[in-house]
Amino acid sequence: MSLTIMKRIRFCAGHRLFGHEGKCAFFHGHNYIADIYVTGEETDEVGRLVDFAHLKKAFKGWIDENWDHAFLLNVSDENGIDAIKRVEPSKYFILPYNPTAENIAKYLLENVAVELMENQPHSVSKVVIWETEDSFAEASVEQSSEFMESYPEVSAFVKSYHG
Ligand SMILES: [Zn+2]
Repeated sequence: MSLTIMKRIRFCAGHRLFGHEGKCAFFHGHNYIADIYVTGEETDEVGRLVDFAHLKKAFKGWIDENWDHAFLLNVSDENGIDAIKRVEPSKYFILPYNPTAENIAKYLLENVAVELMENQPHSVSKVVIWETEDSFAEASVEQSSEFMESYPEVSAFVKSYHG
């Protein structure tokens, strides 16, 4: 049997998609929802996989500090980065790829979650990013023990659903 818990974190951020052929190339923003999933079989003596309070403190803390009310930009988007740096004050976060819902989920799973779950008995199994009420992207680790051992070197596979 496996058990799964999920913590929902909400944040607002601006972005644009570098190289997009339509309106996503313009600066705009979303009210994002990040759903952080932890799956495991063994609970601790209290009956938890991971304390919800830890997930909230760690993930909301990181997101508030780095992404909430910030602009998320692709490192290749030099023009966009130049523009956002001119605004005083400005808060921005440079990603190694386009800030799509898929890549935001991937970054949280592969980069952020590893660090935030370091001393926890279970790691994050899946991150879902809701960009609108109708569209989300999901990044999840592959469910093999071999993968879990080599985590986080092996990249997560990213599925996306767009309504
Ligand atoms: Zn957008």
